[in-house]
Amino acid sequence: MPRSSFRLRAWLALLLLCAAGAAAWPLVSGAGDLRLLAGLVFAGLLALAAWAGSIALARPVEELAEHARAVVRSQVRSGGEIAEIERALELATEQARLETERAANTRLHTASLLSGMAEGVVAVDLQERVLFMNRSAANLLGLDAELPEGARLWESLRFPALERALRGSIDGIPQEPLDAPSPQPDGRTLSISVHAVRSQHGFQGAVALLLDVTAVRKVEQMRIDFVANVSHELRTPLAAVLGALETVADAQTDAATTTRFLEIAQRNASRLQAIVSDLLELSSIESQASRMPLEPMGIGSPLRSAAAALAGAAESKGVALVVEPVPADLPPISGNHGRLERVFTNLIENAIKYTQKGGHVRARARLAGRALEVEIEDDGIGIPAAHLPRVFERFYRVDRSRSREMGGTGLGLAIVKHVVRAHGGNVEVESEEGRGALFRVRLPVLAGEAAARRSAG
Ligand code: ADP
Repeated sequence: MPRSSFRLRAWLALLLLCAAGAAAWPLVSGAGDLRLLAGLVFAGLLALAAWAGSIALARPVEELAEHARAVVRSQVRSGGEIAEIERALELATEQARLETERAANTRLHTASLLSGMAEGVVAVDLQERVLFMNRSAANLLGLDAELPEGARLWESLRFPALERALRGSIDGIPQEPLDAPSPQPDGRTLSISVHAVRSQHGFQGAVALLLDVTAVRKVEQMRIDFVANVSHELRTPLAAVLGALETVADAQTDAATTTRFLEIAQRNASRLQAIVSDLLELSSIESQASRMPLEPMGIGSPLRSAAAALAGAAESKGVALVVEPVPADLPPISGNHGRLERVFTNLIENAIKYTQKGGHVRARARLAGRALEVEIEDDGIGIPAAHLPRVFERFYRVDRSRSREMGGTGLGLAIVKHVVRAHGGNVEVESEEGRGALFRVRLPVLAGEAAARRSAG
């Protein structure tokens, strides 16, 4: 209760008592104006006395109230500090919750990244128990599914190369990346890189990264073989040239022998030149494969040019070379005239080379679906089935000495394959030993033409 209202109430209560006293006054004294005046003065004095009394009466109560208010104020103040502590605690809790949420999100993000990787990832602890394995690792290792956390790796898998690398890494020996045949009998080569893991949270173990490098290693092996093949191909004619020149240089050599050896030197030098020029052509086709200049053209022109250039060779060997009339309504293709002429030259030249006297070589072009097909067919010696898949490889020859005798470089069909590919087409061979061979080149019809024909049909 406020101080003034208590004091007012105390004063009113005393005033009431004084009024009662004043009312009782006439009973005590005689009547008259004097008595009235004296009564009023008496009442006034009583009122003053009541006021003073009320102050005296109210003070202890007011002091008590003030004390109570101070207690309440102090309680309110201490209540604020607690609230502040509470607020700080709430903030800290919220921050911890956000941190946990963020860490969980990061974990989820990392796990989904690792799961989606093409590389296999396997992490193990010091006891070689799985901590993490992604799907790619399971696939590469030939497992039906990822091994769960805590699984013992070597109970489900036998892969000594990986086992040695993980164990070595756990034992503190840094591991060099290595290649190993896949643990499943699929002929794949896996690259394994293992690293020790020591996290700041005290975790220790090792993580392995697995990669299918079959295709890469195959290309590398092809390059190694290619260099070996080139060196081998060049070495023989080069040795022949040097041997011949040594003989010629000998003062004892007579004129006839000198002439013979000079011819040998010349033949082998030409062979060297043919190999080098075919190699250069092949590398230029490969390097410009995606940007070979192409233009709309008819297929008849390069085919006829190639056949015309080889007519003499066919005639002198006694082989009948026939180019069937190319239909006038064949749609154009997007091609490179020079390169396509080279393709048909190589195929017709081979057909003449590998066909005996009295044999036949036929060339024809026709529309087959959305592609033009050019076939070069002969009734010569043919190719044994076992060799068919490899004849388009560089330097591959069914009969090495026969090819060499005929001045072949072993690169002709490789050039054909690359040029046709650069045109977006393909080449295939059908043959039976002793019954001739048929090479079929397919080239896509010019894009707009194909569409126009489709809509016209
Ligand atoms: P080469 O220079 O030896 O002819 P190619 O790459 O042109 O090299 O051909 C590779 C091999 O394919 C030849 O050595 C030959 O054995 C075989 N070959 C190619 N065309 C024919 C064909 N028309 N008939 C029989 N064998 C062929």
